[in-house]
Amino acid sequence: MPHKVIGLLGGMSWESSAEYYRIINIHVRERLGGLHSARCLMWSFDFAEIEALQHAGDWTAATARMIEAAQRLERGGADLVAICTNTMHRMADEVQAAIDIPLLHIADPTAERLKAAGHRRVGLLGTAFTMEQDFYKGRLQQRHGLEVLVPEEGERHAIHRIIYDELVQGRIEPASREVFRTIMQALAARGAEAIILGCTEIMLLVTREDSPVPLFDTTTLHAEAIADMAMA
Ligand code: GLU
Repeated sequence: MPHKVIGLLGGMSWESSAEYYRIINIHVRERLGGLHSARCLMWSFDFAEIEALQHAGDWTAATARMIEAAQRLERGGADLVAICTNTMHRMADEVQAAIDIPLLHIADPTAERLKAAGHRRVGLLGTAFTMEQDFYKGRLQQRHGLEVLVPEEGERHAIHRIIYDELVQGRIEPASREVFRTIMQALAARGAEAIILGCTEIMLLVTREDSPVPLFDTTTLHAEAIADMAMA
């Protein structure tokens, strides 16, 4: 039986969507061998449009864009849908309600892996939206029973700036890696047993060697779970 058609909501930013495409295809090749690769569609947004809505706080319009794109993927033949960014899971429930195919939430495979590794108290790095609003932390806490620590206000500001001014624009700066290293040390000192890279571009900047505790990269964990779901 052919594996399922994956529908990716991407372009947020394309720097990380390219990683999703690569990791999904590597995972399918590892599982199925030979010349096998993923059957997939991607809707790739113009991120300038999405970023403007985010920073204007116009989540209603942003939700409408996300629903419209998910419906396009469904009409195009996708059997499942994934949102290739943590932040835009803010409207994951609304997107799921507007389509008849399953949406694989990025927080779920991440939390499953954390729990399997025996971690309970975790640090979360991401955009200010992800670190400060409840849609993401709440799911980790209520659905998965994890305790979530976020950086202090000034640190959150620095991370948010690095994401939007550098990472989503493909800029990898050693000075920013140092900022992340300091923040991850502080989270570990406050008791974080592991750290979630809860923004899909952070894995472009930071590796395991930069952190005193294990890192759980949402891009990789989500992409692998998407590929597994398609092959199930
Ligand atoms: N890709 C990032 C995330 O995972 C930030 C860009 C966005 O706001 O979608 O949250």
